[in-house]
Amino acid sequence: MLVFKFGGASVKDAAGIINLAAIVKKYEDQPLLIVVSAMGKTTNALEKLTRAYIDGKNDLVDIFEEIKAYHYQIIRELFETNHPIFNEVANTFVEIDWAIEDAPHDDDDFIYDQLVSIGELVSTRIVAAYLNQMGIKSQWLDVRGYVHTDNNYREGKVDWVKTRESIQRDIPKMLEKGIIVTQGFLGGTSENFTTTLGREGSDYTASIFAACLQAESVTTWKDVPGILNADPKFFSDTIKFDELTYTEAIEMTFYGASVIHPKTIKPLQNANIPLLVRSFNDPDAAGTIIKETAGMNFAKPIIILKQNQVLLSISPRDYSFISEDHLSEIFSLFASRQVKINIMQTSALSFSVCFDLRPDRFAKLLAGLSTKFKVKYNEGISLITVRHDKKGVLNELTAGKTILLEQLSRNTAQVVVR
Ligand code: ASP
Ligand code: MG
Repeated sequence: MLVFKFGGASVKDAAGIINLAAIVKKYEDQPLLIVVSAMGKTTNALEKLTRAYIDGKNDLVDIFEEIKAYHYQIIRELFETNHPIFNEVANTFVEIDWAIEDAPHDDDDFIYDQLVSIGELVSTRIVAAYLNQMGIKSQWLDVRGYVHTDNNYREGKVDWVKTRESIQRDIPKMLEKGIIVTQGFLGGTSENFTTTLGREGSDYTASIFAACLQAESVTTWKDVPGILNADPKFFSDTIKFDELTYTEAIEMTFYGASVIHPKTIKPLQNANIPLLVRSFNDPDAAGTIIKETAGMNFAKPIIILKQNQVLLSISPRDYSFISEDHLSEIFSLFASRQVKINIMQTSALSFSVCFDLRPDRFAKLLAGLSTKFKVKYNEGISLITVRHDKKGVLNELTAGKTILLEQLSRNTAQVVVR
């Protein structure tokens, strides 16, 4: 069986959904499960809606109307006005109406997951209905009954035993009846609340299904021709890799390459299932294949840019050396505030770390650290990682910039710059 994942960009308008159906049509004779994200920038819009609801802002209604109008515009282009999809979409959005009638629950992350998940629930309804309209037999599946997580909202941790059991119990039988269309990014708790798996988590969903079903491969259809050595939004003269090893792909996602969600590769590597990254604009092109025995050829180094970083330096208040005890206290604060460290360095009197700015978590981290340590920080910093830099590309990239921190290992160079 095959697993396909279509991200938000591939279903951002009616033309995208028509294109998705054309791609799926070519594979309809095989058992196929497709994982779909929210349409276009819907997740960002729902994040804004959630914020407005929590903060009691007046623009809540406008944001919601805009999200609905965007989806209705798309379905009007794809379906006759009497098609049942209009009701299905309305019934899905009504969940938001119900939620925002009440005063906010006290856990922001819980609210986030209940509201933001509507994006995927709607997009998959639309995709499944459109495939059926085009004669491609499809079944809509509520992923929340299959990807079981703990109740760590916004970062649900998958319960693999339960997940594998549910998927293996039902999915093979369903696949005999036709294509399955399900939501990426979402999970369900044992009390039937919705969780999300972290932004861009739909890739991970695809890999969960593939691993549990021992799929032949996973294909993620994207708006790029495959995996490139650098993000074309920031760098010119990029090249595409035909093949990558799992290890290199894991390294790339670890250092912040946004082309695949960081948790995606491990389950696939463990089950030896290749991951294909292919272009939805050029569906016959081969793209990039990530697998165990790939041939690696780094004609150009890999460059990964992470913007919007905070560089924080932490020192004991009493001028003592940074000790193992200090470090263990510091790390446990980072872990409990869920702040992921991207690079770190210790000196005699200070410990420096760089991480993505998430204002809510950062504020809690600062409060925790400040009781024991002196803390200084800079915002608006960038972290550049270069792998396999044989030609000194890093020097070109940092020319004229202030280097705040630098780290070198055999294959990887990292710099924090302003
Ligand atoms: N819709 C979610 C997001 O934008 C998940 C995904 O696209 O993978 O983060
Ligand atoms: Mg997306």
